[in-house]
Amino acid sequence: MSDIIKIKNLQKHFIANRSVIKVLNNININLKKGELVALMGPSGSGKSTFLHLISLLDTPTKGEIFIFGKKTQNISEKQKNLMIRNNISIIFQNNNLLSDFNSLENVAIPLIIRGEKYKSSTEKAAKILDKVNLGHRLKHFPSDLSGGEQQRVAIARSIASETNIILADEPTGNLDEKTSKEVFSYFLKLKKSKKTILIATHNRDIAKQADYTLRISNGNIKRSNA
Ligand code: ADP
Ligand code: MG
Repeated sequence: MSDIIKIKNLQKHFIANRSVIKVLNNININLKKGELVALMGPSGSGKSTFLHLISLLDTPTKGEIFIFGKKTQNISEKQKNLMIRNNISIIFQNNNLLSDFNSLENVAIPLIIRGEKYKSSTEKAAKILDKVNLGHRLKHFPSDLSGGEQQRVAIARSIASETNIILADEPTGNLDEKTSKEVFSYFLKLKKSKKTILIATHNRDIAKQADYTLRISNGNIKRSNA
């Protein structure tokens, strides 16, 4: 049972202006521990939709998602929130951070939510920020950080949350090539610590370094090794 995420007959349709948009049709995919997978496909193909479903922020039209073998449909809101908190972090293209809190606090938040004291949470957060080379930016607010620094704070927060699943929706989409490489290097480190990582990206260099690519087109997701 090394499948961390198991997706069975997943379908997602939206209804807009009385017409049905069939974004995902009958997807069957498993992700294993320690896998770093690139999710590629043109804009509008359903990458964000797919990540939102796996993050349990949205519900499928049909089909099922199992996280660590546990069902995620027809469970209580409370169970679902616990499942998210214990297992899943998501990193977006931007607006990842709470603007009224500094780097240290943004990273400490998952620890404080888990019930740790403010002092020990911020001490741990400082250590993690140091790991992503932001030891000199602890008291900076998001608006005073560069795009690459903001993404590294978001990565630090997902490290602090200690979830085994990390979903990232075009995390380097707004970054230049050099900064993208640097930010991606931290995802490679997370893979080494056996996290399961799914990254939606248009960046071919990132896709090349992933274990494999999942490609979305016409509502289907197929594995491709190139
Ligand atoms: P991607 O992330 O690959 O660019 P999305 O998952 O954001 O694609 O969107 C896939 C398709 O689903 C698009 O056609 C988009 O317009 C549509 N879509 C996404 N969310 C909704 C929604 N809440 N209501 C209606 N249509 C949606
Ligand atoms: Mg998207």
